Amino acid sequence: MSSVDLTKIAARDAEDPPAQFREQFQLRDGLIYLDGNSLGALPKASITRMAHAVTGEWGEGLITSWLGAEWVSAPRRVGDKIGALIGAKPGEVIAADSTSINIFKALAAALSLRPDRGVILSESTNFPTDVYMMQGLEAFSGGRIKSVTVAPEAIMEALDETVAALLLTQVHYKSGLVRDMAEITRRAHEMGVLVIWDLSHSAGAIEVDLNAADADFAIGCGYKFLNGGPGAPAYIYVAERHQSAVQPLSGWFGHARPFAFEEEYTPAPGIERFLCGTPQVLGLAALECGVDIFGRADMAEVRRKSLQLSTVFMEMMDELCAEFGFSLISPRDPALRGSQIAYTHPYGYEIMQALKERDVIGDFRAPDVLRFGLTPLYLRFQDIIDAVERLSDICKTKAWDKPHYRERAQVT
Ligand SMILES: *Cc1c(COP(=O)(O)O)cnc(C)c1O
Repeated sequence: MSSVDLTKIAARDAEDPPAQFREQFQLRDGLIYLDGNSLGALPKASITRMAHAVTGEWGEGLITSWLGAEWVSAPRRVGDKIGALIGAKPGEVIAADSTSINIFKALAAALSLRPDRGVILSESTNFPTDVYMMQGLEAFSGGRIKSVTVAPEAIMEALDETVAALLLTQVHYKSGLVRDMAEITRRAHEMGVLVIWDLSHSAGAIEVDLNAADADFAIGCGYKFLNGGPGAPAYIYVAERHQSAVQPLSGWFGHARPFAFEEEYTPAPGIERFLCGTPQVLGLAALECGVDIFGRADMAEVRRKSLQLSTVFMEMMDELCAEFGFSLISPRDPALRGSQIAYTHPYGYEIMQALKERDVIGDFRAPDVLRFGLTPLYLRFQDIIDAVERLSDICKTKAWDKPHYRERAQVT
């Protein structure tokens, strides 16, 4: 290769500070895992923690573990640890339920704080579940709530005094474009609009400071960059000043005194109000192991390495795959780029299948996007070099052009 010095790039693995974390994850030899933005890798600590949670806490401790093993405080404890990663104060984040459910809670709470406004706004290319949850709220509201989506570039001009809440994903799930959280929040606030930030591709991927941005609400996934495991509990951030908002999923764990078994619902005063039912104890145990790794990592280093990995990826693609019809949809400007790289290609699905067969796992997002997640804690520079070389080889030999690569699976 001419312009990219591979020996020099591969040598970075020896001196890179986040590289020490790789051994804390269980990863099969030979596998190049570029899908940690969809399902993070398994922390070795989760294996022993889960074994203990099941056999010791559940098997032996049984019901006494609610207090004895601190199950009851896990949503708050894990929430605070996630909060430390995203610029929240203690007591502003709680880990519970799924991202979709937390979107519902945040939207409803924001609407309760703007009783004279009925529009909830997002952009048309947002992750589908975000928009589906908005549509659900509209459908059951009997005309009070209107779900509106506009083109991404039209968000600012759509902010007016009819809008109660703006729901945006900070790092776009396909392109990885990073939105300016502080600036958008500021402009929304000028119009009296509350902002809900979806951090599913932000937490554990880029530095986030919710309080510095004066953010109102945020939600996000536990199973992506946070490595919490399949179906891990999600989290919700509610700025202290908004914690008296209405949370209509008023299950007993959001009650001020769940074990008083009172007839009337009295919401808990703080972030516990944003719980609904019984916490997902086993899921929280695994999530805590994933989050704890970030407690030992330096997010500035993680971010720096993430951008280096994506830069190498793009430069190698330019060099090795330029003639094969890929179009980069991720920003070249590092300030605007999250921790993933995406390309469109008319045969993206088939190419991704062929890559997977060669032990390079990324994912495919309909209709034509190949997406590669970059997780600095367990990816090496050498992995990026190998991945792009295999991709180039697949294209050169047209190895993707086989009937069995065309069969669409249920999960892509
Ligand atoms: C992955 C993702 C979700 C997922 O929501 P779940 O309820 O956990 O399935 C939501 N929003 C965004 C932006 C995502 O990337």
